[in-house]
Amino acid sequence: MSIFIQSPPSLGNQYRDDRFLRAYLVRKLPAEVLASIEGQLDELGATAGGELYELQLEDRLNEPRLIQWDAWGNRIDRIEITKLWQRAAEVAARDGLIAIPYERAHGRYSRIHQFASVYLFHPSSDVYTCPLAMSDGAARTLIVSGNRGLIDRAVPRLTSRDPVFAWTSGQWMTEATGGSDVGTTLTRAERLADDRWRLYGKKWFTSAITSQMALTLARPEGGGPGGSGLAMFYVETRDENGSLNGLKVERLKDKLGTRKVPTAELLLEGTLAHLVGDTRNGTRHIEPMLVVTRAWNSVTSVAFMRRALALALSYARERRAFGASLSELPLHVDTLAGVEAEVRGAFLLAFELVELMGRQEAGDIDDEQRALLRLLTPVAKLVTAKQAVAVVSECIEAFGGAGYVEDTGLPLILRDAQVLPIWEGTTNVLSLDALLRGDPATGLAALGTRLEACVQGVTEARLARLAKRVLDTLSHVQEWLRSHGEAQMLQANARRLAMTIGRTWQLALLIEHAQWEIASNRAADGVAAAARFATMPVDLLANDGPHPRDSAALLD
Ligand SMILES: Cc1cc2nc3c(=O)[nH]c(=O)nc-3n(C[C@H](O)[C@H](O)[C@H](O)COP(=O)(O)OP(=O)(O)OC[C@H]3O[C@@H](n4cnc5c(N)ncnc54)[C@H](O)[C@@H]3O)c2cc1C
Repeated sequence: MSIFIQSPPSLGNQYRDDRFLRAYLVRKLPAEVLASIEGQLDELGATAGGELYELQLEDRLNEPRLIQWDAWGNRIDRIEITKLWQRAAEVAARDGLIAIPYERAHGRYSRIHQFASVYLFHPSSDVYTCPLAMSDGAARTLIVSGNRGLIDRAVPRLTSRDPVFAWTSGQWMTEATGGSDVGTTLTRAERLADDRWRLYGKKWFTSAITSQMALTLARPEGGGPGGSGLAMFYVETRDENGSLNGLKVERLKDKLGTRKVPTAELLLEGTLAHLVGDTRNGTRHIEPMLVVTRAWNSVTSVAFMRRALALALSYARERRAFGASLSELPLHVDTLAGVEAEVRGAFLLAFELVELMGRQEAGDIDDEQRALLRLLTPVAKLVTAKQAVAVVSECIEAFGGAGYVEDTGLPLILRDAQVLPIWEGTTNVLSLDALLRGDPATGLAALGTRLEACVQGVTEARLARLAKRVLDTLSHVQEWLRSHGEAQMLQANARRLAMTIGRTWQLALLIEHAQWEIASNRAADGVAAAARFATMPVDLLANDGPHPRDSAALLD
C-alpha cells in the first residue's frame, strides 16, 4: 500500500523573503539609516521564521493559567504564561520593540524602524504584541501628560531593552456597561488624604493581566456623568511585597482567539492609584494610548496577512493537483495575486500612519499632516483589520482541508485575526470617530491634497487610468458628503464612507509606490499590484442611499 504524505508549508527568513517590505524601506529611509538597521531586521526575520515559529507550533496547545489560591489558602491570582510568551518577552525587549521610538536614534524614521520590527515579530509571537502595544501607548500617554513623577517611575521601565527590568502595561477601559461608550464607566475613585486614590469597580476586559502597571479610567466623586466626568489613573498591579494591589482576577475569558493572551475580568476593591492629569476628561487624556494601539493594530493586521500568504505560497509550491503544483494553476495564482495586492495596499496604509506618527513625535509635522494623521488613525485601523480577516480566510481556503485542521497551526491565525476589528474600537465606532468627531472637513481636505500628490506625474498608461479612478472616487466622496449632510444619513453610511476613503487611499499609495519603482528602474511589479487591487471594490458609496429608514424597515 502506498501512502502519500504531504510536505508542509515552511517559512524562511521573514525579512529576506519579504521583497515588498525591503523595497518600501529602500524608498522611505535614507541609505545610512537602512544600513544601520538592516542587520537587526535580518536577524529578527530569521528568529521569526525560525526559532519563534518552531516554538509557536510546539507550544500550540499551551494556554495561560490562572492560579487563584496558594496551598495555604492565600488568594494569589498568579498567571502562568506560555513558553512562547516568555521567550517573546525577551526578544521584544532585546530588539527594542518599545525602546526604538523613545531612543529616537533615527529621528522621524524611528517609528518606521520600530514597526518594521513589530511587523516581522508579530505573527510568531502568539499576540505578545498585545501587551507591547499597550506599553508603547502607556509610555506615550505618560509623556504627553507631563506628570514628571510618573514619567520617571514608569517610562524607563516600559522602554527598557533589559528583559528583567522591563515592564509592560495594561489599559483597563472596558466595563460591562460598554467598551465603545466608555462614558458609561461605573468604577469610582476616592481621594485619600495623601493625594493618592482608591478605585472601586469591575473592569470587564483586561488583557495581558501579567503586566506590572496599567492606565485606567474611573469617576471621582462629584465628577458628573459621561466621559468628561472620568479621570485617568496610573495603577501598579502589585505592591513591593508582590501582593496584588486591591485587585482580584475573577476569571480569564474563554475566547475564540488570542488564547495565549490572558484576558481577565478584574475586580478593583480599593486599588491604590495615582491621578495622571486632572480629575476630568479622562477619555480625552487617554487618547494618545489609543492612537498608538491603533497603529499597532494596523501593522499587526498586515503582519498576519503577510504570514498567512507566505505559508499559502509555500504550500502552493509543494501541493499538486491535476498534474501540476498549485503554483502553476492559473486560477490559484490569480487568487493569491489578489491577496498579495490587498496585503500591499494594507501595508502602505498602515505605514503611512506609522510615518506620520514618527514625524509628529519628531516635531516635523505641519497642520495639514496633523489633520491627515487624525483621519488616518481610525481609517487605517478599521480598513486593515477587516482586510486581515478576509485575507487570512482566503489563505486558509488556499490550503483546502488542511487549512481547517488545528495541528497545522493555520486555524489559529484566523481566530486571532478576528479580534482585530473588535478591540481598540470596532469598525462602526471608528467610522463614526473618523467622520463625525473633531474636524473631519479639515481631514478630508488634507486627504485630497495627499491623494493628488500620490497620483500626480504618473508616466505609465495603466497607472494614469488608475490615478483617474482615485481622483474620481475622491470627488464622489466629496459630492456625496455635500448632498447627504443629514446627520442620520451620515451616521448610517459612515462605514461605507470610511471604507471607501481607506481603499482609495490604499490604491493611491500603490500607484505612488509603482511610480517610484518605474522612476528608480527597479524590477517593477507595482503596476500589476495597483491594477489588481483596483479589480476589487474601492468606491462603496451609493448615490441613492441606503437610507436608514429602509435599513430599519428591513430588520423590523
Ligand atoms: C480579546 C479581547 C481583549 C480585550 N482587551 C481589552 C483590554 O485589555 N482593555 C480594554 O479596555 N478592553 C479590552 N477589550 C474590550 C474591547 O475593546 C471591547 O470589546 C470593544 O471596544 C467593544 O466594546 P463592547 O464589547 O462593550 O461592545 P459594544 O460597545 O457593546 O458594541 C457592540 C456592537 O455595537 C456597535 N456599536 C456600538 N456603538 C455604536 C454606534 N454608535 N453606532 C453603530 N454601532 C455601534 C459596535 O460596533 C459593536 O459591533 C478586549 C476585547 C477582546 C475581544
